[in-house]
Amino acid sequence: MARPTFDKLCAHARETALLQSVAELLGWDERTKMPPAAGPYRAEQITYLSSLAHRRHTDPQLGDWLDELAASDLASDPHSDAGATIRQMRREYEKLTKLPQTLVEELTRASVLGQQAWVEARKNDDFATFAPILERIVNLKRQQAEAIGYADCPYDALLDDFEPGETTKNVAGVLEGLRSELVPLVAAIAESSRKPNLDILKRRYPIDAQESFGKQAATAIGFEFNRGRLDVTHHPFCAGMGPDDCRLTTRYDERFFPSGFFSILHEAGHGIYDQGLRSDQYGLPPGTYVSLGIHESQSRMWENMVGRSVAFWRHFFPLAQQAFPKALGDTQVEDFCFAVNDVRPSLIRVEADEATYNLHIIIRFELEQALINDGLAIKDLPAAWNQKYRDYLDIEPPTDADGVLQDVHWSAALIGYFPTYALGNLYAAQFYAQAAKDVGPLDEQFERGEFASLLGWLREKIHRQGQCYSARELVETVTGQPLSHDWLIAYLREKYTSYYDLS
Ligand code: ZN
Repeated sequence: MARPTFDKLCAHARETALLQSVAELLGWDERTKMPPAAGPYRAEQITYLSSLAHRRHTDPQLGDWLDELAASDLASDPHSDAGATIRQMRREYEKLTKLPQTLVEELTRASVLGQQAWVEARKNDDFATFAPILERIVNLKRQQAEAIGYADCPYDALLDDFEPGETTKNVAGVLEGLRSELVPLVAAIAESSRKPNLDILKRRYPIDAQESFGKQAATAIGFEFNRGRLDVTHHPFCAGMGPDDCRLTTRYDERFFPSGFFSILHEAGHGIYDQGLRSDQYGLPPGTYVSLGIHESQSRMWENMVGRSVAFWRHFFPLAQQAFPKALGDTQVEDFCFAVNDVRPSLIRVEADEATYNLHIIIRFELEQALINDGLAIKDLPAAWNQKYRDYLDIEPPTDADGVLQDVHWSAALIGYFPTYALGNLYAAQFYAQAAKDVGPLDEQFERGEFASLLGWLREKIHRQGQCYSARELVETVTGQPLSHDWLIAYLREKYTSYYDLS
């Protein structure tokens, strides 16, 4: 009885995915190849496709099918492919249909105006001109939270857009644990007399050689270039636009090696997750990534835990010396590794190292809660921002442009997004420790240029699960423990104790 309805539901979802994959392709083109004058018409093309997709997501027919299926045998095992499909689609449908159409439209408009105002305000270091539209956005996000509903605080409803099923209270508890150990660790590193020679990274690294070396590394860790590409953009991203079409992007700086190379590893990590999802479930929840935090755990693991390890460079450094003989010919692998693992408090999140990055995120997470839950006034936001930078990183932002105005997220109405970056680091460390337990010493394999056993482990435990488990369930199922900051702190402490001679 239920099977024909389930088949109709899946066909509907696959057709929506087809539509969205076309929009993705247009979006990728916009950020990599499109001539500048094509912008306005491209915006119309993408808006048109998104409105068609939104109409399909809220099609009342879906609601009828999902009601019927929720009571059927197909939904009895929530972790089966059919059970997960029904559960996740019902969750999305109920959430989207709770949002009034006028609120959706106002949020879209405010985010377009917000981003335009932000570009100008940042350029002119003028928070006051950005404040009115930010105030409007925060009010609309509060309305969104009220419309959707929440158990504990309004921020719960916003966080759920990016990390489904996670709660503010749980994330706050884990990040507070992380903060309390990270602040003294970063302070101890700042006081260490040992410092890397960063000039190594600022020699001349020809762009052609960077591209081929980056592709060589991405291929070695498992990215499949017959199902993907690598192109150049301003703000690197990874976009999937079909079961066998994943686009990586990076940006190169001839005078700063890490910029291009670690962006490639990071985006390849996202791409490897995308390529590891089950093609036969494309467009359905079992073939879709589970949360932004889990997505980020995959990029961070390959970029940092693998890509900044000495073991990785024992294999790749001789190849890097061949690719960049003038820059690296007389450099020792140990000095190079210390340079790419440099830690120091800095103002700008996107340029931050692996340790202080989390403090940048915690600051934003705390301020977002203050804005949404506690009524922090927009006019008081810059001072609150600067105070937290003094408290956690012991630095003073000299301008709002390099302070509260540095990120695009709030101007684009993305509130609740930031914590997923830190969650990614936490998940990555917890998964990585478990992988090492399950498949044996990873370092020895990396030194031989072998990454297949870590990749295979990730494929089986994470990628192929799609949305059959929530992020929280996945962590507990895979590692046997709830999410904790212990693994990340242990990993960072071990790494930096040797580099910085900490006691
Ligand atoms: Zn990422």
